[in-house]
Amino acid sequence: MGNDRYWKQTFYEMVDRELPHMWTIEICNEKPNQMGWKSFTQHDAFGKYKCPDCPNSWKSIHSVIEFYIQLTNRQGRVMMNPLGQQCKNCIDQYVKPKMPNRIITIIVQNLIKTIRKKCYGEYVPQLDPADDGQSGHGPHIKKLCQACHLGICKANVFISHQSSKVEHCNVHIGEEKPNSPLKSSQQQDSCFCRCFCFFAIILLYFIWIIMKH
Ligand SMILES: [Zn+2]
Ligand SMILES: [Zn+2]
Repeated sequence: MGNDRYWKQTFYEMVDRELPHMWTIEICNEKPNQMGWKSFTQHDAFGKYKCPDCPNSWKSIHSVIEFYIQLTNRQGRVMMNPLGQQCKNCIDQYVKPKMPNRIITIIVQNLIKTIRKKCYGEYVPQLDPADDGQSGHGPHIKKLCQACHLGICKANVFISHQSSKVEHCNVHIGEEKPNSPLKSSQQQDSCFCRCFCFFAIILLYFIWIIMKH
């Protein structure tokens, strides 16, 4: 992550200001094994990547960070797992993203809001976008993205709705996920049709009964 110190410093400052208990944050590379963790996934964050094995570097507005959150006996813990992207030349390891400080601040704010909601039952306003207002930085290549491999990347969801965010357009056209908003609205339409036909038949039946008497 490179700027680990800034992540921790920002997190502890906000915990001090906004949360009633002590909280710690650690970086991990996978889901914690034990049960009892709540999760928060920051999608579509702006991140920079630098391959350790060749001169290649790139940017993405689809960086993904998973957070696991636990509050027990007045002590809170956060495990943070930034997902990586592979270098297109080397394809041997996932390179973790580095975020500018202003993006880290937004993501930590979103994390604290999620903690307040999930651990303290508070109402919190909407989370803020962490893409830095940037549009595409070249195609988002699905086979190089760890979040895509895990099926949790939102990059492809944007295709049909946000033409300004052009990452993934070469790769993802026609690959609508089963639960995408488009599909579910189609399902809602056909359900509405079935309900409408059902009530029309019932209505005709009652009219027939009334006419008969
Ligand atoms: Zn490389
Ligand atoms: Zn992806």
